[in-house]
Amino acid sequence: MTEGFETLAIHAGQDADPTTGAVVPPIYAVSTYKQDGVGGLRAGYEYSRSANPTRTALEEALAAVEGGVRGLAFASGLAAEDTLLRAVCRPGDHVLIPNDAYGGTYRLFARVLEAWGLAYQPVPLHDVDAVRAAVRPETRVIWVETPTNPLLGIADITALASVAHEAGALLVVDNTFASPYLQQPLGLGADVVVHSTTKYVGGHSDVVGGALVARSAELGERLAYHQNAMGAVAGPFDAWLTLRGLKTLAVRMDKHCDNAERVAELLLAHPKVTQVLYPGLPRHPGHEVAAKQMRRFGGMVSFRVAGGEEAAVAVCNRAKLFTLGESLGGVESLIEHPGRMTHASAAGSPLEVPADLVRLSVGIETVDDLLADLTQALG
Ligand SMILES: *Cc1c(COP(=O)(O)O)cnc(C)c1O
Repeated sequence: MTEGFETLAIHAGQDADPTTGAVVPPIYAVSTYKQDGVGGLRAGYEYSRSANPTRTALEEALAAVEGGVRGLAFASGLAAEDTLLRAVCRPGDHVLIPNDAYGGTYRLFARVLEAWGLAYQPVPLHDVDAVRAAVRPETRVIWVETPTNPLLGIADITALASVAHEAGALLVVDNTFASPYLQQPLGLGADVVVHSTTKYVGGHSDVVGGALVARSAELGERLAYHQNAMGAVAGPFDAWLTLRGLKTLAVRMDKHCDNAERVAELLLAHPKVTQVLYPGLPRHPGHEVAAKQMRRFGGMVSFRVAGGEEAAVAVCNRAKLFTLGESLGGVESLIEHPGRMTHASAAGSPLEVPADLVRLSVGIETVDDLLADLTQALG
C-alpha cells in the first residue's frame, strides 16, 4: 500500500526512538560515535559529516514526500545546488538555466561556477522548442524552476525531461516554490529535485537549509559521496526544525493557496494594478501546464503597479501586515520589491526583472486582514 502525502510527511524516517520511545526524532547533537571494536559501528554512524541520525530522519522523509529513492539535507539551498553541480558536471560542460532563475542560482552560475569552467545559458523554459534548440553536445543539465521566482513562469516538466533525456542530459527541478505537496517532479521525469527548505518545507522563517532528492539509487550515491566530500551538511538542530516544518506542510500549503487565490482576485480587480502574475489565473500563459502538473497553484503572487518603480516601492513601504522582507514560504506574509531586493544582483543581466514589480509571499493569516492591508498599501 502506498501511503498518502501527509502520512509520509509525518512518519517516513521517523519511527519512535529505539532507546526511549520518543515519538519525535531527537536532536542528536553529536559529532562522533563509540565503536564496539575497530570498525564496529552500532547503527552505521561514525562521524556526523557523513551521517547523523536527526539528519537521516529528515533525509528519509524528504525522499518519501518527493517520491525519490535518496534524500540529502544541506546547510542551505545554494549549498545543495553547488554540491549537485560539482557532482554531475565537469569543467567544459554546459547547463541551460531559466531566463528568470532565482537570483542566487544565477549568481552561483555566473560568478562561481563559470570560473570553475561550467558554461551556462539562460533560456525561456516555457518555450520547449527554444530549449531544444539551445542544447549543445556538451549540455549536461537542464535546470528548471517552475513556478519561477519572481515572475511565476511555468515550465512543462514532462516535455523538458524528454528534451534533456534525448540529449543525454539530466533534468534538475528546483521545486522550492511549489513544495513537494503541490508538485512532484521526479514522477514527471526529473532526475533530481532541489529545495531551499528555508522556504515552504521549513515554513516558519526560522531555519536556513537545502535538499536534494534523487530518482535513482546510483545518482543518489554519487550525490551522497559529494555531500560528504564537500561537507555542506545540515546540522542536527536545523534538520530537526526542518523536519518539524515538513510535518505540517500539507495543511499550511492548502491555506497558503486559499489565501493567495483571494489576494490574486483582489489585485486583478484593483485599478492601480496593471498585471497579476499567478499561475492559478486562467489567463496566465502557463495555467494549463500548471493545472496538469501541480495540485494547486501555490502561495506566491507577483504584480505590476501603475506608476512604475517609485509606485511599486511605495506599495512595499506602506504595507504593514505584509512584512517588508526577502525570503518566502513562511506562515507570515511578506512583501518585497524584487528589482531592488532579491533580484538586485540580476540588474543589467538577461535576468533583470521589471522595475514596477512587487512580489508577495502570501502567508496563512486571516485572509480578510491580508486583503485590507493590500488595499491600504495600494492607496
Ligand atoms: C531561496 C531560494 C534558493 C536558495 O536557497 P537558500 O536556502 O537561500 O540557499 C534557491 N532557489 C529558490 C527558488 C529559492 O527561492
